[in-house]
Amino acid sequence: MRRITSAAELAALSKDAGIFVIAPARAYVVESEREVSHAVREAAGDGLSVTPRGGGTSIPTQSVGSGAILVQARASIRLTQDTVVCEPGVVKADLNRELSKWGRWMPVDPSSYASCTVGGMVANNSSGARTLKYGSTADSLAGARVVLADGRALALGPATEEALSGDPLTRKAASLILENQKEISEDAPRATKNSSGYRLEKVRRGSFLDLQKLFAGSEGTLGVITEATLKTRLRPKWRALFVAESTLHELDAAVAAFRTLAPSALELVDKSVFRSAGRWERVSRLSRSDDPFMIFCELDGDDGGLEEEAAGAVGGLDPLLLTDEGDISAAWEARNETLTFAQDMVKGGRRPVPGVEDLAVPPGALGDLVELLVGQFERRGLEYILYGHAGDANLHARPLLDLSEPSEAKVNEGLMEDCFEEVWKMGGSMTGEHGDGMLRAKYVPRQYPRTYHLMEELKAMFDPKVVMNPGVKIART
Ligand SMILES: Cc1cc2nc3c(=O)[nH]c(=O)nc-3n(C[C@H](O)[C@H](O)[C@H](O)COP(=O)(O)OP(=O)(O)OC[C@H]3O[C@@H](n4cnc5c(N)ncnc54)[C@H](O)[C@@H]3O)c2cc1C
Repeated sequence: MRRITSAAELAALSKDAGIFVIAPARAYVVESEREVSHAVREAAGDGLSVTPRGGGTSIPTQSVGSGAILVQARASIRLTQDTVVCEPGVVKADLNRELSKWGRWMPVDPSSYASCTVGGMVANNSSGARTLKYGSTADSLAGARVVLADGRALALGPATEEALSGDPLTRKAASLILENQKEISEDAPRATKNSSGYRLEKVRRGSFLDLQKLFAGSEGTLGVITEATLKTRLRPKWRALFVAESTLHELDAAVAAFRTLAPSALELVDKSVFRSAGRWERVSRLSRSDDPFMIFCELDGDDGGLEEEAAGAVGGLDPLLLTDEGDISAAWEARNETLTFAQDMVKGGRRPVPGVEDLAVPPGALGDLVELLVGQFERRGLEYILYGHAGDANLHARPLLDLSEPSEAKVNEGLMEDCFEEVWKMGGSMTGEHGDGMLRAKYVPRQYPRTYHLMEELKAMFDPKVVMNPGVKIART
């Protein structure tokens, strides 16, 4: 175990991809589960909070804290027949490379896959373009090992209530969730993606309880994930990519038409981001009109040739069809760069800021979500960028604001307030994949009016002294 106390190294850990900078008092680099326990006990004993950290790519301020930052350097990968057991420091791109040797994959690829870790993906319930067909990280999480705030290690996986009753903590957690199934299902957003609150509705599966899924999306607030068992699949044998262009107002109809093809991915790309970043050459070959948006629709499977038939079905959209693997990969690479380019955009003192950057609504309401966002931005006279996962109606919209100006920070607060309220009315979530962090923590009780108290109770069971990532997700404790 290495203790970091040098100012330079601590400064590097005071930022993630969010808007707040918080200097930690100390940091640990740990090599084993035993060292994780030791570090957590030591920090808590010294009165410090503990913030687990992976790649530090999270957006709503989650992997920074004023106490101790815990970095797990461990990154071993162990394959079984249809799962992979990962240490938390495994970078997703490395996992992809390892699995591809066996013709397998774990289909959740956040755009940040080159630097985000399995620990961070599980803790944020991260998603990717192919979540539309294959689910988010929670859906792939078959088991986990965790270290709790008191330093105790726990193995979690599918278990019956009886099996969980041997341990007072898992017994209490299981009972709480089982006794409140009605409220849990009433409160769960109807969006296909959600990373807000604890994913209580994912825990019960027939006569089994998947308590490991409580940790999917827990953002380091319940304990430290020291190992994750993820389901893997055989890689589909072929894929094809349609690229169409659209105005914002034609978007809903185009997405609805593409959805009939049961695609593996259906994404919205904002062409202006590439122009503003001076990187137009990354997408110029895909563009044939002045329409401001591109729609990427990927089909995959084991039997090729279906793309011709599909092209007929969406012929009215006049899409470009890519079938060469090199061309498809290049197009996806460009799409994945959008957030990076967007984050680097600056106009005067203004830059694209998070807040309403991850709204998700039920898929049929995509048009309403676009209308809501555009209306809110235009009413305030704001420039904005807008792109995201159109198939899941999960949009990454960012207004350009200078948050160092108190009046503009207030504008961002107003936007969050107004947009979240409307999104909840639509049955959606204020975050489809990025999580609550510190930025959205104060809104979580309003997203879950009937079950937020259960989340607080679970937090108190797992972390009674509020050692783990305070201020993130569960703001009041
Ligand atoms: C350019 C860019 C593109 C992105 N694209 C996507 C995208 O397509 N889809 C998406 O879902 N997200 C995306 N994100 C958000 C982010 O990259 C993901 O949430 C990512 O999975 C976070 O992983 P990380 O290793 O960087 O985690 P970190 O940022 O280090 O941590 C994230 C959270 O997990 C907790 N945590 C980390 N490790 C552990 C552990 N071992 N035990 C318990 N808690 C832990 C932290 O405390 C924190 O709360 C993007 C971000 C950027 C900057």
